[in-house]
Amino acid sequence: MGLVSLRFVKKIKLYSRIYFSYLFGLFKINFKQNKINIINYHNFYDSKIIENEMFVDKEVFYSQIQYFKKFYNIININNLNFKNINQKNNLLLTIDDGDNSILFIENIIKELNTPFCLFLPIGLMLDNDNIDLYRSRCLHHIFYINKFYKKNINLENFFKKLFTFKIEKIKKFEKFLYKKNKYKDYVIIRKKIDINKIKKMSENENFILGSHSMSHINLKDIPYNWLEWEIKKSLEYINSLDGNIEIFSIPYGHKNSFNNNVINLLKDNNIKSIFTSLNIINNFNNNYYGKIYILNSKNFYYLRGLIFNSMFFYEILIKFIKKIIFFHK
Ligand SMILES: [Zn+2]
Repeated sequence: MGLVSLRFVKKIKLYSRIYFSYLFGLFKINFKQNKINIINYHNFYDSKIIENEMFVDKEVFYSQIQYFKKFYNIININNLNFKNINQKNNLLLTIDDGDNSILFIENIIKELNTPFCLFLPIGLMLDNDNIDLYRSRCLHHIFYINKFYKKNINLENFFKKLFTFKIEKIKKFEKFLYKKNKYKDYVIIRKKIDINKIKKMSENENFILGSHSMSHINLKDIPYNWLEWEIKKSLEYINSLDGNIEIFSIPYGHKNSFNNNVINLLKDNNIKSIFTSLNIINNFNNNYYGKIYILNSKNFYYLRGLIFNSMFFYEILIKFIKKIIFFHK
């Protein structure tokens, strides 16, 4: 019963977002326009229906991209220049997390010849014989073990210690931590695109690779030595894959996933465009951009509502409703 109602609440949340945006699109409610709109995808599915906010159906994806191409000026981040600033309806398309299901829509991107930024948690996607793969996985696990079991592990020392391990030892250690980490988030569970496949994909200029850190943890909550590695090392790998080393998508991207230290260190490493998942109004002089989360709907009004920044107002509405509920408790 508990599970059923939880699923029901999730469904309500999902559809309330779609319908809210739909109203914006339908009535052309458009008072806060982004200078640049950024749409963000995660996972895809082919035939089996997955009612989850992180998944978009292949056919729906096709319709969404056709719609965007028709009505918006789709930007290639590699050619982003000041000419775009004056132009209206700028749209940047992004996919976070390097999930293997991106292969479902790879051909659609090629067919429709549309540039996409793929933000990769590159440390989790490396070859099986690369020690940085196991380092990244261990760091991901320890972060969650520390967080959920409140172990008070000294993360700075853990990070240093980990780098003294040889590959055989770290492989075993990773297995051990994998079992200990009971609250695995989906990023570590789901299969990533093979790194050789990524290399092939990036030969097509529509696939622009960018960093999404090494181990996909909350960058705000790690010590400096570890944070530096997440940024610098990931940029090295992205560079070796001919990606764009001036863009970075912050893992999770919500307001508790980064702070000024993170932003400053990214800037110190010559990152020109920083992407979060916040619902904010994007101007070109922002310190960072917000990405718009897209759901599994090809409805014209829903999509138009997204570009009209409906989710910015949706968030305000939800905050307001929460406030009312808490005041009346
Ligand atoms: Zn992510």
